[in-house]
Amino acid sequence: MLPAFEIEQNKQLRELHTFGVPWRAQFFVSVTDRQQLVDVLEIARGQSQNIFVLGGGSNILPTATFHGLVIANNISGRSVVSENESEIVIEFGAGESWHDTVLWCAEHGYYGLENMALIPGTVGGAVVQNIGAYDSEISQTVTSVAVINADTLQFADYTREQCDFEYRNSIFKKNRGQYVVTSVCLRLSKQFSPVLTYEPLRKLQKNNELTATDVVNEIIAIRQSKLPDWNMVGTAGSFFANPRVDEKMVRRLSKQYKEMPVFSDKQTGQKIIPAGWLIEHSKLDKKIREKFLYPKHALVLVNNQKHDPKISDKYGKEIYHASKMIINRVHKDFGITLEREVLIVE
Ligand SMILES: Cc1cc2nc3c(=O)[nH]c(=O)nc-3n(C[C@H](O)[C@H](O)[C@H](O)COP(=O)(O)OP(=O)(O)OC[C@H]3O[C@@H](n4cnc5c(N)ncnc54)[C@H](O)[C@@H]3O)c2cc1C
Repeated sequence: MLPAFEIEQNKQLRELHTFGVPWRAQFFVSVTDRQQLVDVLEIARGQSQNIFVLGGGSNILPTATFHGLVIANNISGRSVVSENESEIVIEFGAGESWHDTVLWCAEHGYYGLENMALIPGTVGGAVVQNIGAYDSEISQTVTSVAVINADTLQFADYTREQCDFEYRNSIFKKNRGQYVVTSVCLRLSKQFSPVLTYEPLRKLQKNNELTATDVVNEIIAIRQSKLPDWNMVGTAGSFFANPRVDEKMVRRLSKQYKEMPVFSDKQTGQKIIPAGWLIEHSKLDKKIREKFLYPKHALVLVNNQKHDPKISDKYGKEIYHASKMIINRVHKDFGITLEREVLIVE
């Protein structure tokens, strides 16, 4: 019997990631179930090929042709694992759209994901990155994650504790390429208890008839006012992580920049200076600023040629070089080294 998947060669993947820069894969395949994934991994292993697992492509910047096999994870599905009066555990296929999952849960009375509406990408990518927004994080609802080990081809279930979640990090990200997430179980509440601690959401506290859909709609409105629409403009969201700095650094910079915002990490207490503020107030070259920074938010790098058929094949590299210049400039001006949150794929 022929396998139910087709491995394509020299495939253009520009449409399959949100930055929208040209990106070719030597080999490409889309898988829709776990058996196909095992078969494909077995082929790649037999041919000693590099693999790259692609979700929604919303946290990557491709800079060169990928020499190896790109596997698009399109494993879909949702099923109830267990349920009682107050909670439900649902298993979601790793290839499900994250935003659609948030909408579906809010509509069906399963709560806990509302603040993470409109984050692009898949359920699998979300757990790898431990996504978060507006004081919510996916790790708060995960009960287990099903994976295939790409080296041994063994299936395994990781409990929440075994996932080793940290700020925008997990065991799957720390061991990139080793685990392919096939599904994620989330524990959701049947009692709506909104998280309205983020300042712009506080006004909703006054609404006695607030619904999950109201919160989702507010989050969508906030995000649309701050971030570019990735369907129109190429981006992967926040390009750099907000740096954690020591007290000495905060004291030194606060003397010089009285208006510099400083936050504390709610879990670790570490001081955080917003990377966007540092970039905004650095002496970054005007041309780089105008070409690559989103005017409403300096932390967001953009590709304004997303729909330009004449875009250079090297445009991903250009954005990467711009990010290097930003890192150097911020380091020179403030003594802080920014780290990329977006994965550079070569
Ligand atoms: C406009 C915009 C706004 C954003 N806002 C936020 C935000 O508020 N908060 C936030 O946390 N993030 C945000 N992001 C970043 C991004 O959406 C998330 O990190 C998202 O979860 C990435 O998922 P993905 O499926 O697109 O992963 P991809 O970009 O496809 O992949 C990212 C990494 O995960 C790996 N991966 C993907 N799927 C799997 C799998 N099934 N198994 C194993 N590895 C896998 C890939 O190999 C790669 O290493 C934003 C991005 C954009 C474009």
